[in-house]
Amino acid sequence: MGRKFFVGGNFKMNGTISSIKGIIDNLNNAKLDPETEVVIAPPSAYLLLAREHLRQGIEVAAQNVFDKPNGAFTGEISVEQLKDLGITWTLVGHSERRVLLQEEDSFVASKTKAAVDGGLGVILCCGESLEQREAGKTIDVVTSQLKAVADKVSDWSKIVIAYEPIWAIGTGKVATTEQAQEVHAEIREWLKKEVSPEAADNTRILYGGSVSDKNCVDLTKQPDIDGFLVGGASLKPAFIDIINSKM
Ligand code: PGA
Repeated sequence: MGRKFFVGGNFKMNGTISSIKGIIDNLNNAKLDPETEVVIAPPSAYLLLAREHLRQGIEVAAQNVFDKPNGAFTGEISVEQLKDLGITWTLVGHSERRVLLQEEDSFVASKTKAAVDGGLGVILCCGESLEQREAGKTIDVVTSQLKAVADKVSDWSKIVIAYEPIWAIGTGKVATTEQAQEVHAEIREWLKKEVSPEAADNTRILYGGSVSDKNCVDLTKQPDIDGFLVGGASLKPAFIDIINSKM
């Protein structure tokens, strides 16, 4: 199993030129674990700034992308435009977009396909609400979100899955290591059956939801946790400790 540890920073709709430059200076000057792949996702207005200031070896992700190549789609950004800016990754299907902007599984899948076909890496987010968890539907919800993608995409080599229980996002209420490991193992099992044994072995499955420098080390010890998608803490100096949590 050679899955490289992966840490993504999702800045969401936070930051200014000055604060984002500050975060980047911090990353550029830090000693980062060479065994960890690091990708930051600033708001779209700052993607170019981030790419221009960030040192080589750290990649930049968009937080979203559209599924059409170009044309009359006001407010959207295409895969080709991201590539033109030197952006190599995109988030897709974050729960804030699924819930607040009503993005459906099939739309998320179609954006994933456009990104993968265009050669971008995709951090594909999935996860259940508290209500769904309490109703015992966690695995059904997560696998149906993933199945929508598998219906359109057969090559998962550029996809990283981020399991982010909605009840743990921005709440300070991190999933226990057991809760996270259980879902990650089920996702891996699903990949094995529905995509391929290779995809199950090679696909990184990240945990996201209130990851901090305090809880990350225990989570790294779980066999099916291959990294993190970090929101709030990626804006803080503690992000470096999360990146280095395997060292
Ligand atoms: P959080 O967000 O770390 O602030 O909980 C994670 C995410 O939404 O990606």
